[in-house]
Amino acid sequence: MAEKETNNRFSALKLNSVLLDRLHKEGYNDPTPVQKRLIPVLLAGSSAIVSAQTGSGKTLAFLLPLLHQVNPDAVPVAHHYTKIFILSPTKELAQQLFGIAKPFAEALGLRTALLQGGGRRTGENSILKRGVDVVVATPQRALEHMEARHIDMKSVKHFVVDEADMMFDMGFVSYLETIFSMMTERSQKVIVSATVTPRVVKLAKGYIKPLKRIELDPPGKIADTITHELFPVVRSQKEALLSWLISSRNLKRVLVFVRKKELADGVAEALRSWDYKVGILHGERMHQERKKTLLAFREGRIAVLVATDIAARGLDIPELDAVINYDIPHVKHDFIHRVGRTGRAGKEGVAMTLVSPEEIEQLVDLHKVLGEKIKEVILPDFAPKAIKARGYLFQPQRRKRKPVLPKKENPVSVLNKKGKKRKTTKRDGFKILDAKKAKSPKLRKRK
Ligand code: ADP
Ligand code: MG
Repeated sequence: MAEKETNNRFSALKLNSVLLDRLHKEGYNDPTPVQKRLIPVLLAGSSAIVSAQTGSGKTLAFLLPLLHQVNPDAVPVAHHYTKIFILSPTKELAQQLFGIAKPFAEALGLRTALLQGGGRRTGENSILKRGVDVVVATPQRALEHMEARHIDMKSVKHFVVDEADMMFDMGFVSYLETIFSMMTERSQKVIVSATVTPRVVKLAKGYIKPLKRIELDPPGKIADTITHELFPVVRSQKEALLSWLISSRNLKRVLVFVRKKELADGVAEALRSWDYKVGILHGERMHQERKKTLLAFREGRIAVLVATDIAARGLDIPELDAVINYDIPHVKHDFIHRVGRTGRAGKEGVAMTLVSPEEIEQLVDLHKVLGEKIKEVILPDFAPKAIKARGYLFQPQRRKRKPVLPKKENPVSVLNKKGKKRKTTKRDGFKILDAKKAKSPKLRKRK
C-alpha cells in the first residue's frame, strides 16, 4: 500500500531534487496521467507528439523532463546559451508558459527569456545578449531574433511546440518549417495539443525521426468534467440571454467566446450598458491592453471577459465559473479548446452554448466533431417560436429496444453434433427466440 502511494508521487519519476522541491513548494504532489506517461519518455531523450485533453497538465509534463536534462545535477551552469526553446501560437499562452517555466528554471540556475511580438525588440535583444538557457516565444518574434542571429537554433537541444495545430489555423506553418530546418536532427522535439490533427502529424513526421506517438486521450476528446448546455435562441436575443445567464446563474467569473473581433466589442458594450465589469481580448487590441485585461480577469477585477478564439488555447484561469459560447467557432475543434478553459485539473466546469436558427448547420457539423449531441435547454423567453412549440431543437434520440435474448440458464439447451451440451451463441439466441415466438401469441404480436 505504502509502496503504491510512493509510486504515484513525483518522487518516483527520477527528476532531480531541486525540481522535486519546487513542485512540492508549488503544491504539486502526484503527477497527472500525462505527466506519468510523458516524463520518462522525454527523460530518455525521445522526440514525441503528444495528445491529451485540455487541463490534463501537459505543461509540466514537457517542462520538467527537459529542464532536468539541461541540468541533471542542478550544479551551477557555466555557459548560458539557448538549450530549451518553447513555441506558443499566442502571446497570452507564451506569457503563461513563461510564468510556469521561470521559477523551475531559475531554481536550476538557468536563465529565461520571453520573446513575444507587440513591443520593441530592444529589451529582448539585451536579455538575449547576456545569454539565456530557456526561451518561450511566439513564432513571428522568434523568427525575427533568429534572422538577426540573436539566437542560434543549432544550439537548441530541446524544442517544444505547444498547441501545435493552432499554428496551422493561424497560418504559422511556414514559420514552423523554417525553424525546424534550422535545427539539428539530433535535437529533441515535442509536439503538443489536445487536438493533434492529421496535418500536424504529417508535418511532424516530415521533420522528426524517430517520433513517438503518446496518446493519453483520443485527439479532441472533451474532458468528462465539463457539463454542457445548449440554448436555442432568437439571434436578436443573444445579448439579453447572455446577461440573463450571467445574473441568474450568479456567475462571478465568466469567459465569453465570440467568432469575430467586432462582435467582441459589440457584446462587451452591451454588457457594460447593463453594468457588468467587462474586458475585451482579441488580436487587434494593443499588446499592453491585452496583458492588462487578462491580468484583471485573472485577479477577479473583471467579471466577464469577451474574447475571440485567441483566448481559447492553453489559458489556465483559476476559479472560472463558466465558459459561454456566444456562437459556434469557425474552426470546429476550437470548440474543444474554448470549453477546455473550464473543467481543468479534475475540477468540475460548466460550458454553455448559444445557438440561433441561422447556425443550425454549423451545429450539426459540430456534433459530428464531438460525436455526441449537447444537452438542450429550451427557455420560453428566449427560444425561437418553432423550437418552443416543438419542445426541442433536435429530436431526442429514441432508445433502441434490445432484442430479448435467452439468459444463460435458459432451459432450452443447445447440443453439438455428438449430442453434448455446448455454449450458446448469439445466433442460437435468435433461433430460440423464434421458436418461442411461434409458441407464444403474446410474443408474436410484439414486433
Ligand atoms: P494542459 O496544458 O494539459 O491544458 P496545464 O498544464 O495548463 O494543462 O495544467 C492544467 C492545470 O492543472 C493547471 O492549473 C496546473 O496548475 C494543474 N496541474 C498540473 N499538474 C498538476 C498536478 N500534478 N497536480 C495538480 N494539479 C496540476
Ligand atoms: Mg497547455
